[in-house]
Amino acid sequence: MNYYSLHHKSPNTSFKNAVIQGLAKDRGIYFPENITPLSKDFIANITEYTNHEIAYEAIKQFVGDEIPTEKLKEIIKETISFDFPLVKVDDNIASLELFHGPTMAFKDVGAKFMAQCLAYFNKDNEEEVTVLVATSGDTGGAVANGFLGAKGVNVVILYPSGKVSNVQEKQLTTLGQNITALEVDGVFDDCQEMVKTAFLDEDIKRTLTSANSINIARWLPQMFYFFFAYKELQKTNKELVFSVPSGNFGNICAGIMAQKLGLPIKHFVASTNINDTVPNYLVAGVYSPKPSKATISNAMDVGNPSNFIRIRELFNNDLEALKSAFSSYSFSDEETRETMKKIYGDSGYVADPHGAVGYLGLKKYNLQANEFGVFLETAHPVKFLDVVEETLPVKVAIPVQIQKVINNKKVAIKVASYEDLKAFLMK
Ligand SMILES: *Cc1c(COP(=O)(O)O)cnc(C)c1O
Repeated sequence: MNYYSLHHKSPNTSFKNAVIQGLAKDRGIYFPENITPLSKDFIANITEYTNHEIAYEAIKQFVGDEIPTEKLKEIIKETISFDFPLVKVDDNIASLELFHGPTMAFKDVGAKFMAQCLAYFNKDNEEEVTVLVATSGDTGGAVANGFLGAKGVNVVILYPSGKVSNVQEKQLTTLGQNITALEVDGVFDDCQEMVKTAFLDEDIKRTLTSANSINIARWLPQMFYFFFAYKELQKTNKELVFSVPSGNFGNICAGIMAQKLGLPIKHFVASTNINDTVPNYLVAGVYSPKPSKATISNAMDVGNPSNFIRIRELFNNDLEALKSAFSSYSFSDEETRETMKKIYGDSGYVADPHGAVGYLGLKKYNLQANEFGVFLETAHPVKFLDVVEETLPVKVAIPVQIQKVINNKKVAIKVASYEDLKAFLMK
């Protein structure tokens, strides 16, 4: 499968090149040339397939013959090594828990898949690849874990100082080996901007690639769990509405890809915190990115969501078509905390702030009798321990994955400007 740049000024390229480059030379992100729906039989009989088989069917056209079938199946098996349970929290609403992986965030899926694709493509290469990634919280940990020990791959993670949770910080600053954490004096958008600048800087001779959701190998596997949820919910005979807590809009964009592949999804709700660039766009019809603002759902503190351009492409840049299948609502921290309390009071379910924003999106959408709502619970409550424990009368038990890193010593290099990053990369 070939990919084109959404800035349309770079030549189309293979899956392999798109994975290695991350971003096209014209700074556009890549998009597949074709999207062919899966067979109706497959969708109708989805309950007869294992999750590994479903994932293979969903992704194979996007990889094409660039990874041999058996190898791709192996990569999928390594990636999908944990469950994605649906937990009912209301009569017509369930939480799709994506946090049972090694770093307890949904990004484990994309990070693991990408790490293995890159390791495969780089296996005969003498030169090391540097994965350069900006994180607003969870990406860093998932990427660090997914790439830890990967041969021939160095990982450099930029994160905004003081704007990620303690657990998140530990997950990305304590692993050592081929992982380096850079603590940036700034917000997430500064980190992301520095990464983008480094990619275009001809003075840097290292081979750089990104592991943000702009990378197709991070983004596309996120389709899988929409299929898994559908497999479980098909029997309800209700139309499905997914609410996705959104920051860079990669996760929800993968859901729309799943829909393009023929998965029967009625509607998408992109739920955001007060970083409301997309909700505003749907109302005003003008896309005006803004600097990000800090919130208690900090993995979504993004003022200029990098995947939104892919969503527009999926709807042929037709705003009316987009609006008929996609809504986006913004919620304050206060509403988020109230909702965490409400969900806990009604059902005993402990939602993290991101999940609570997702739940709020379904409430605002206002589900009809023939509809069933699923919100993606994108992180385990322990990842946002302070917020959860100050909002709810609970003590969150620390899962083993977290116990392993929480008492390790943080090691990070401070970075104040792009020049600091450049100096580091030129060493
Ligand atoms: C990354 C992240 C999000 C946002 O996902 P996008 O694909 O960037 O929209 C939401 N919640 C959590 C916990 C995350 O880590």
